[in-house]
Amino acid sequence: MKKNEKAVVVFSGGQDSTTCLFWALEKFNHVEVVTFDYDQRHKAEIEVAKEIAEEQKVKHHVLDMALLNQLAPNALTRDDIEVKDGEDGELPSTFVPGRNLLFLSFATILARGIGAKHVITGVCETDFSGYPDCRDVFIKSLNVTLNLSMDDEFVVHTPLMWLDKAETWEMADELGAFDYVRNKTLTCYNGVRGDGCGECPACELRQNGLNDYLDKKERNA
Ligand code: ZN
Repeated sequence: MKKNEKAVVVFSGGQDSTTCLFWALEKFNHVEVVTFDYDQRHKAEIEVAKEIAEEQKVKHHVLDMALLNQLAPNALTRDDIEVKDGEDGELPSTFVPGRNLLFLSFATILARGIGAKHVITGVCETDFSGYPDCRDVFIKSLNVTLNLSMDDEFVVHTPLMWLDKAETWEMADELGAFDYVRNKTLTCYNGVRGDGCGECPACELRQNGLNDYLDKKERNA
């Protein structure tokens, strides 16, 4: 049974947030999505998000967050910063300070505006890339802060929080969206849709998870 309530999905057009969109569409009667434009290297990301939103018939909000790039240049927004994993306890070069803090805050303000109590984000602690703002403790803390700030009772949902990438593929499959997520989404740092460039850290993570899931499926067949 779907809840007769409104929900907002933080949506990038990638594997994780698209899986969250299908999750939300199964749970809630009315779903809208929000994409943040922070001068990502690949404007393609926003185009993909727009296309998926149209195909899934959900209202798409695009919010300008160029300020984030101005304050915190990073490998996702600047060609002259190399995409690399952090070494010796450093954060990876793809880390954008404050990103989830700001995105979830703005998504919740938007939710309030449309009368939604539910905000969904695809952050995940299991495949922890070293991003502190993907941790469960951070999301719970922010949820409390948001409720206090607006004297309201929002619920920030994180359906992928404890899943590994293989389990995220499994969830997409259970939601009947495996092929859709595999072919339509954009996760790759080099802007290649579907299975991606096969070389960047995002593709590697996605592909390994996909292989693990397909192996598991084959074993259980
Ligand atoms: Zn790639």
